[in-house]
Amino acid sequence: MTILDGKATAASVKQSLKVEIETLAERFGRAPKLAAVLLGNDGASETYVGAKVRSCKEIGIESLLIRESENISEDELLLIVNQLNTDDTVDGILVQLPLPKHINEERITLAIAPIKDVDGFHPENLGRLVLGVESYTPATPLGIMMLLSQYKINTEGMHAVVIGRSAIVGTPMSLLLSRNSAPGNCTVTLAHSRTKNLKELTLQADLIIAALGKPEFLTADMVKNGAVVIDVGITRVEDSSSSKGYVIKGDVNFTEVSTKCSYITPVPGGVGAMTIAALMKNTVHAFIRRNTTADI
Ligand code: NAD
Repeated sequence: MTILDGKATAASVKQSLKVEIETLAERFGRAPKLAAVLLGNDGASETYVGAKVRSCKEIGIESLLIRESENISEDELLLIVNQLNTDDTVDGILVQLPLPKHINEERITLAIAPIKDVDGFHPENLGRLVLGVESYTPATPLGIMMLLSQYKINTEGMHAVVIGRSAIVGTPMSLLLSRNSAPGNCTVTLAHSRTKNLKELTLQADLIIAALGKPEFLTADMVKNGAVVIDVGITRVEDSSSSKGYVIKGDVNFTEVSTKCSYITPVPGGVGAMTIAALMKNTVHAFIRRNTTADI
C-alpha cells in the first residue's frame, strides 16, 4: 500500500508555480493577484482562507483578504464582488463558502466574472468543464487529478465510484474521471444519499472517491483488495483530549481500509493540501488568460 502524499505533491506543484510566477511577473510587469472574501469568523472558514493566503505568499501571488461581518447584506456583498470584477489588478476572486443563510449563494456565484472565477463554481465554467473546453476546474477535483497524475496511477478502464454528488466536488469529479484523458477513461458510478446498494457498488470499484462528509464512513468491508481510495472528507469531530477540542476526520476509516487498498490518501495531508495547490494553479491560469486573451 502506498500513501498518496498530498502535502509533498502540493509542495512540489507550488514550487513549480513559484518559478513560473517569477517569469510571468517579469514578462507582464506584475504578479498574479487573488482576492478572497471572508464573512464572519467561522473557525473552519478562517483556517481554509488563512491557508490559501499563506500559500499565495509562499509562491509570489499577491493576495487581498476582504473580511466582512456575517451580517453584511446580499447587496453589499454583490457590490464588493462587482468592484473586484472591475478591478484590473485582481485576477482571481473567491468568496469563501458556506455563506450566511440570508445570502443566496447562487446569486453570489453568478455575480463573479467567469474569467476571474478561480474556484470554478460559475455555471459558465462548469458548463465548459462538461464540454471539455478551457475553464477553471473546481480545485478539489483538480487537485485529485493532479495527485493521480503525480503517482502515475493508470485509471484507464477502471470502475470509479464517486460517493457524493455536490456541484463542487462529486459531480465535477465524476465528469473528469469519465473524460477521454489521462487520468480519466474510467467507467464512473456517481453515488449519493439515495443510492440503495452502495456497498455492492464500492466492492466492485477499482477507484473510490469518498466525498460525503461522514467521518470514517467507508470501512474495510466496503472495499475490494487493491482498490485506490481517495478521501475528500474533512469533518471536525469533538475530542476533549485534543488541545483544540476537536480532531479532523476523513470519510474513510484509514486504519482499516489502508490494509486492503493499493493507494490511499491520508487526512490531513492528502486532498486538502492538493485543493490549495490547485487553487494556486487556477489563479496563475487566470493571470495568463487575462494577460494574453485579446477580448478580455
Ligand atoms: P455536500 O454536503 O455538499 O455533499 C455531500 C454529498 O454526499 C451529497 O451529494 C449527498 O447525497 C452525499 N451523501 C450524504 N450521505 C450519504 C450516504 N450515506 N451515502 C452516499 N452518499 C451520501 O458536501 P461537499 O461539499 O461535497 O463535501 C463533502 C466532504 O468533503 C465534506 O466533509 C467537506 O468538508 C469535504 N471537502 C473537503 C475538501 C478538501 O479540500 N479536502 C474540499 C471540499 C469539501
